[in-house]
Amino acid sequence: MKIKFYGTSAGGGIPEIFCFCRVCENARKNGGKDVRTRSQAVIDDCLGIEFPVDTFAHTAYRGLDMRKVRNILITHTHHDHFLGWDAISRPQGIDKVNFYMPKNSSGMMKALVEQREEAYRNGRMKRTCDFTVFVYDLEHYQTYDIGGYQVTPLRARHDEAAGASLYIIRKDGKSILWGFDTGRFYDDVLDYIEKAGERFDFVVLDCTLKENEQITTAHMDLTWCKEMADKLREMGALDGKTRIMVSHIGHLVERTHEELCEAAARYGMEVAYDGLEVEV
Ligand SMILES: [Zn+2]
Ligand SMILES: [Zn+2]
Ligand SMILES: [Zn+2]
Repeated sequence: MKIKFYGTSAGGGIPEIFCFCRVCENARKNGGKDVRTRSQAVIDDCLGIEFPVDTFAHTAYRGLDMRKVRNILITHTHHDHFLGWDAISRPQGIDKVNFYMPKNSSGMMKALVEQREEAYRNGRMKRTCDFTVFVYDLEHYQTYDIGGYQVTPLRARHDEAAGASLYIIRKDGKSILWGFDTGRFYDDVLDYIEKAGERFDFVVLDCTLKENEQITTAHMDLTWCKEMADKLREMGALDGKTRIMVSHIGHLVERTHEELCEAAARYGMEVAYDGLEVEV
């Protein structure tokens, strides 16, 4: 599997719009890997992960081609992961897109789709294209075949009401754990991984917070990422070949890309950045 990261930031992006902190000032000055847009990735150019507020910017400036991406996994509907309005458009030459969302999160998108369909039916709006948005509910701990990928949503410690999900994504004998947004994994997540006998080739974890300053239980810092990696390693889900990466990085981390790479390396982890491509 080829994983391309288009956005690797937490909610506010780096630089944050109103922020004067050192990390945001550095990003404004240096650009490059120090600028982080909201989380989005594409696997093998065809399976999307997230549809955030920056999807347009990734399309306009970063070479993202969503026309090839018919299936999109959504972890939850916070704005840095999902902006449904951007799919309610009038594209030409394409018939559909499928969103796969946690069951508790899908109502908003279904309502948007239905509003547009109702406007067509009652004549308030004229249909000018054949593009249809389909929304599918996913349940935690069920495995689904989505475009040839075996996908299992797991319960994230994040937004319970939204049913926030982590994802295991498998294809051709390879397995990825997509691990954000979340705090430390729930026991039922670890139990599932252990009982299923998962062995991951690639793990990406939530690193929103400053090291040892966990101001919320719904995200992680480097030490909690390390703790999760150790637990997965103990149960045999990681081995020497597994690449472990942190992403969903906020300015709260208080480190430039280079500084964070150095800090993460101490724990045997790498740091994602916008534009990074990983072959698993
Ligand atoms: Zn987020
Ligand atoms: Zn800042
Ligand atoms: Zn979130």
